[in-house]
Amino acid sequence: MLSLKALTKTYANGVKALGGFTLDVAPGEIVAVIGGSGCGKSTLLRLIGGLDQPTSGTTSINGEIVNRPHPLINLVFQEPRLLPWLTVHDNVGFGLAHADRDERETRVRAALQRVHLKDYGHRLPKELSGGQAQRVAIARALVMRPEVLLLDEPFSALDALTRATLHRHLLDIWSETGATMILVTHDLEEAVALAHRVIVMQPWPGRILDEIIIRRRST
Ligand code: ADP
Ligand code: ADP
Repeated sequence: MLSLKALTKTYANGVKALGGFTLDVAPGEIVAVIGGSGCGKSTLLRLIGGLDQPTSGTTSINGEIVNRPHPLINLVFQEPRLLPWLTVHDNVGFGLAHADRDERETRVRAALQRVHLKDYGHRLPKELSGGQAQRVAIARALVMRPEVLLLDEPFSALDALTRATLHRHLLDIWSETGATMILVTHDLEEAVALAHRVIVMQPWPGRILDEIIIRRRST
């Protein structure tokens, strides 16, 4: 269980990005967070991902406080952020550099299979389409077997057809792994298509304006 308690974030320049954000996310739940530009969505994900510290409040997973990158929590950003000099295989395996070699190979292969790229391991990032590169970024997160996957507008740079395909992939991944997901998006249609629950944020400072239950979690 992921628990966010009264998170606030005021940046050094005085901008109040978050003004008290409280949310419990159940295991296996997909929560979409929507809201206009600048309402604190990326700030929220960076705090949950342990990439930045809140001004006050806490994030915890299974009762353990998160204040730096946590092995059970992984992020996918809007851009794939692949290392251009490494192959797809090595990008995906990067976080497992210290794992046993057989274990690493098995997990990289499984992660690439999950995003339907099992024959793309030898390619370099520049040899991929935008949708393929983003699938590699998803595989790179999945290979770490996160309990919580944070997705920061992961599909917004892609064309509508690719986006629809990746929605399908993401739901398949969810059924296979049962991962908890927090999806930040400004696309209401995407939020409704994927999430169990949609959180609507209001800006200055970012907080929860409304919460809409879309579907039961048993599906
Ligand atoms: P969103 O993801 O919803 O667009 P952000 O979390 O990126 O919102 O930003 C929330 C607010 O915080 C905005 O006003 C933004 O300009 C500001 N902000 C974001 N990052 C920083 C930063 N590193 N330093 C100062 N202000 C920031
Ligand atoms: P998509 O399958 O996402 O629609 P594209 O239409 O962009 O991808 O690409 C079609 C095919 O061309 C894909 O198999 C892709 O791997 C390949 N491809 C795309 N860009 C490049 C590139 N820069 N170098 C090599 N192959 C590429």
